[in-house]
Amino acid sequence: MSLQGKKALVTGGSRGIGAAIAKRLAAEGASVAITYAGDTAAAAAVVTAIAGAGGTAFAFQADAADPASQRAGVDRAVAALGGIDILVHNAGIAVFSSVTDDTDETYDRLFDVNVRGVHVGARAALPHLADGGRIILIGSMAGDVAFPGTSAYGATKAAVAALARGWAKDLAPRNILVNTIQPGLIDTDMNPADGELGRQMTGMVPLGRYGRVEEIAGAVAFLAGPDASYVTGATLNIHGGFGA
Ligand code: NDP
Repeated sequence: MSLQGKKALVTGGSRGIGAAIAKRLAAEGASVAITYAGDTAAAAAVVTAIAGAGGTAFAFQADAADPASQRAGVDRAVAALGGIDILVHNAGIAVFSSVTDDTDETYDRLFDVNVRGVHVGARAALPHLADGGRIILIGSMAGDVAFPGTSAYGATKAAVAALARGWAKDLAPRNILVNTIQPGLIDTDMNPADGELGRQMTGMVPLGRYGRVEEIAGAVAFLAGPDASYVTGATLNIHGGFGA
């Protein structure tokens, strides 16, 4: 229960990695708010699971791609939680195509959700974020390592890591610690282990398997907790050795 009394917001917390992060932070004692894009039933299920385990959780629809909606989501979370200590920017989308097939629309959509949503959300949260708070961004191994068709998605995730490094310096005077986690292949709706990508790539992972959402959530709990008190501006790769 290393996060007892803390207040956490997890964007994109209705499914996949974000849902696991929300549940883990709640298990550590934090009150948790999640945002989601459209899957109200999945978001409600996360709230029910956390409440059923004795925790406190709230869910708010907020489109990370829409600045007004993203700001409103942060405001509603702050109001429900009574402040914020931990901000986890996890909401993201993946669109994979070769540069010859990329379009203005896919480029804009990727950057709107994955980068601007993070920037808008952090600026909205900062006036409410406690000194000594934590910001944790979910980037991707694709921010460091390229595969065919991942250039635009990878560019958004490289931008995410760059934002974290800069914010770590901007916010150090307030002892707000900012770090990025870069997952590798993690079994979710976005990237199912039994999907085509999984069939092609699992054999290339040195550990020989996809990662589990709980393996990302555990790292978030570490970065959000007291043991990470001297960790800021870091990029933590969790990819089973794939991108090493
Ligand atoms: P999923 O597609 O399984 O879940 C995405 C979550 O983000 C859902 O809760 C979804 O809400 C929410 N979301 C999507 N778009 C928006 C939006 N515009 N506004 C608000 N919320 C949104 O994805 P993963 O769990 O796999 O991915 C989570 C993060 O991890 C992403 O940033 C992704 O890029 C990153 N990542 C994932 C990897 C993987 O292999 N799975 C590898 C590396 C990085 P709703 O349920 O309402 O649709």
